Amino acid sequence: MPVARILFPLPLPEPFDYEIPEGMAVELGSYVSAPLGKYERTGVVWDVVETSSAKVLKPVASVFDAPPMTEAMRRFVTFCARYNVAGPGQVLGMALRARGGLSPSPVQTVYALTGHRTNRMTPAREKVLEAGRETGPVSAAELARAAGVSASVVKGLAETGSLRAEARVSDLPYPAPDPGRTGAELTVEQGTAGDALRAAVRDGGFKPFLLDGITGSGKTEVYFEAIAEALARDPEAQVLVLLPEIALTQAVFDRFEQRFGAGPAPWHSSLSDQQRRRTWREVAHGRARIVTGARSALFLPFQRLSLIIVDEEHDTSYKQEDGVTYHARDMAVMRAKLEGATVVLASATPALETVVNAEAGRYTRLKLSARPGAAKLPEIELVDMRANTPERGQWLSPVLQKALQATQEAGEQSLLFLNRRGYAPLVICKSCGERLKSPGTDSWLTEHRYTGRLVCHLTGWSMPKPDTCPMCGAKDSLMGVGPGVERVAEEARQLLPDAVVEVFSSDTAQGGAATRAIVERMAAGEIDVLVGTQIVAKGHNFPNLTLVGVVDADSGLQGGDLRAGEQTFQLLSQVAGRAGRAERPGRALIQTYQPDNPAMMALAAGDRDGFLQIERDVREELTLPPFGRMAALVMSAPSAEMAKEIGLLAGKAAPHGEGVTVYGPAPAPISVLRGRHRLRFLITAPRDVDLSAYMTAWLKALKLPNAARVSADIDPYSFL
Ligand code: ADP
Repeated sequence: MPVARILFPLPLPEPFDYEIPEGMAVELGSYVSAPLGKYERTGVVWDVVETSSAKVLKPVASVFDAPPMTEAMRRFVTFCARYNVAGPGQVLGMALRARGGLSPSPVQTVYALTGHRTNRMTPAREKVLEAGRETGPVSAAELARAAGVSASVVKGLAETGSLRAEARVSDLPYPAPDPGRTGAELTVEQGTAGDALRAAVRDGGFKPFLLDGITGSGKTEVYFEAIAEALARDPEAQVLVLLPEIALTQAVFDRFEQRFGAGPAPWHSSLSDQQRRRTWREVAHGRARIVTGARSALFLPFQRLSLIIVDEEHDTSYKQEDGVTYHARDMAVMRAKLEGATVVLASATPALETVVNAEAGRYTRLKLSARPGAAKLPEIELVDMRANTPERGQWLSPVLQKALQATQEAGEQSLLFLNRRGYAPLVICKSCGERLKSPGTDSWLTEHRYTGRLVCHLTGWSMPKPDTCPMCGAKDSLMGVGPGVERVAEEARQLLPDAVVEVFSSDTAQGGAATRAIVERMAAGEIDVLVGTQIVAKGHNFPNLTLVGVVDADSGLQGGDLRAGEQTFQLLSQVAGRAGRAERPGRALIQTYQPDNPAMMALAAGDRDGFLQIERDVREELTLPPFGRMAALVMSAPSAEMAKEIGLLAGKAAPHGEGVTVYGPAPAPISVLRGRHRLRFLITAPRDVDLSAYMTAWLKALKLPNAARVSADIDPYSFL
């Protein structure tokens, strides 16, 4: 009797063996249901063998009617687990996020007009018939909503024969994109890059590219060429386009629709369960041909993935920090390798890792050095804040103030960038000096004026701003210190009393509709000054925006983060790139107290490659990534004593590894989070060391109290 080894999406060490009942069509990769403990669980057949060492075998309960998970996908799950020091079942869990997608599309009852008119008409019934002519066959609830009546009116009308109830499958396949439509007429440079991608896709096999082009140079147009080629070559080919979550906007969706005549299948965190199920099902059946998604879309079970695009490949949001930690860009390259696919990493400011890979010949580099047509890159100027100090309690230097006024007078738009939500990032008591912190977390509270609350940005905890200091009880003594976007907006309103000034952050733009509304108003010129956090940095195209002011360029440089300079450079280049996208030349003013910092000097000189060279030399000298490997072991415990104890235990359990250096334990920079005391080890090793294997061995050797938590982070990005 053949045996199926089933991997479950649970933190179990390995697959379990089950008997395959006579006649059951179980094959490698089948999605099955099988008894596990008290329940039946969904899992994937990881192997089919002849015999099992287990004494008693339970039978597989059932097989889902879905194409099996491909071998490439199963190998990807295994690779991802091993590399990121996680259980394969945990990674499989990410691939099975929408298990409802395994069942057939649900059938819904819809109501269609029959043309028959009952003689018992009422005004409400008239409205339904009228609405039905517009909507076509829809559910009772939808029809009632469109008519502005209750659903019972619809049902009543159906009984008279004026409406007919029909069964309709919901979650239909996405409309098929048409790769034959023509795109923009490419410039010579774009054409060369597009041809290289088309050729790679045509030839097939694993081919990694870096599409290195300045903002607005047409990277999207160029990778559209690759997508068109992939879809046209092979009627079953599927394409995945990864974007940072906040860049997944309607505008992006519309652009795909324009180019291919149909929008892509979406995948991101704000999808409803039904939308998620639909995308998952369509991907698993090989019918969704273009998927645009955030990092987790990498774990969708494609049938025939022939092209992966990682847009804004340098973006730090590709690094997943919770649960299974992984870097979606790196995993995308690995997935492409396993699928034998082309992968395109696109950016105006590629990560040093990617640049080094391109220079070493591992990736083919395609360059786009100009914006098509008249559009020019903005002039970037540093404002030395030591010489241009704003007045006390203000954040805009005289230089930036003048530029804002001039832009307003010219009838053009400005963007003020500050990566701090709320009104003030710190609240202190003028009377006793207390700095207000979040309970159980070592983090300051931010004042939000629009909502009148104090908010912890790490945990989301909040409270109304109290009238008295919680420490000393002094009345009206709490004072916000430092600037957030709300405060800068207040200052801009004082400076430009006639201007429409709006704040754009995750607080003011909750959900797709709100974000869309503010982006549309800005694009239509209804806003004069937009004050935003990094949410404004991505992908928006505001034709009349000619001035970008960076309020505090230094904020990202603090702390011991290895990539602080690089990330500041990337973010500020991206923000500055918002200015002057169309025919009007743009200008960016960057306020800094460190004009001699290499990142700032490179920004002003437009010398990205020079900056990368300095970064590269420093990292090579210190054998930091990508020239060496790095990992973190992150531990936490409910008390400071236990934290100390587990730190000692872990230090003792660290295995010996050739060339491996273990630093720590040290308290994490945020040493208490949600009541848990945190510490971390940092591990470095030369490039040829398998640090994943080392970390796995270390975790295995660790015996910790139950209340302790420990996890490994390969190539950490966040040092909090
Ligand atoms: P990137 O992705 O590099 O930022 P995009 O592909 O978004 O650049 O292009 C920037 C803008 O220029 C878009 O509005 C795009 O439609 C337009 N564009 C790019 N290439 C061309 C071209 N060859 N002809 C006409 N418009 C183009």
